[in-house]
Amino acid sequence: MSTVLLVEDEEHLALGLRYNLENSGYEVRLVRTGREALSTIEQHTVDVVILDVMLPGDLDGYAVARAIRKAGRYVPIIMLTARDLVDDRVRGIDAGADDYLTKPFDLDELLARVRGHLRRQVWDRRERPAADPGRDGDAPDVLEFGARPCRVDFTTYKAIAHDGAEVQLSAKEAEIMRLFAREEGKVIPRSTFLERVWNEPGSLETRTIDNFVMRLRKHFEPDPKRPRHILSIRGVGYRFVR
Ligand code: CA
Repeated sequence: MSTVLLVEDEEHLALGLRYNLENSGYEVRLVRTGREALSTIEQHTVDVVILDVMLPGDLDGYAVARAIRKAGRYVPIIMLTARDLVDDRVRGIDAGADDYLTKPFDLDELLARVRGHLRRQVWDRRERPAADPGRDGDAPDVLEFGARPCRVDFTTYKAIAHDGAEVQLSAKEAEIMRLFAREEGKVIPRSTFLERVWNEPGSLETRTIDNFVMRLRKHFEPDPKRPRHILSIRGVGYRFVR
């Protein structure tokens, strides 16, 4: 049974979500503050985190996500944001979230996202099956590129940024880099990212990918406005070159 850590202080919403998650077959650990979230994740196995941004106490959702990544954990984090502002999404992704939903959100959509992240994780834990459709071509465990060089380790999701800093990538960031490594030199349409990184084609807006790419460029491009590795292909998607 997969365990969901639900970090939500709005009692009514929290209880409703817990009820529905449990009905869907998950074990749910419900906490109301960032501090409780971090101690729970220290003490228990958690497979996915649903994290409200606005929390009582000294840690908001962004701080919690950052702390989880800083501790080297790459459990999927789905953020619940109050407003649909690009700023909030970028902040969430910057903090290490893999996904976000804007309140009020559709319950079925949240459950679909949880399923998608868990499926992805199970798939990651297995040795990658050779016959998995759409994931042809093996990527090495480590990708190196650029002058210094930048480095991504796909077994730990640890990376070395363009300035030599060590960065802990979120699961989605690492999966995007893995897709780049597999499809090096080829144009990758946005829809391919949704299919192969999110596992939920159509459930996510394509601009989410752009937000993730912005974040990855900050890590790996000395001048993110003039990228040399993660190139934009206007109207289509992206292309990665070493
Ligand atoms: Ca809240």
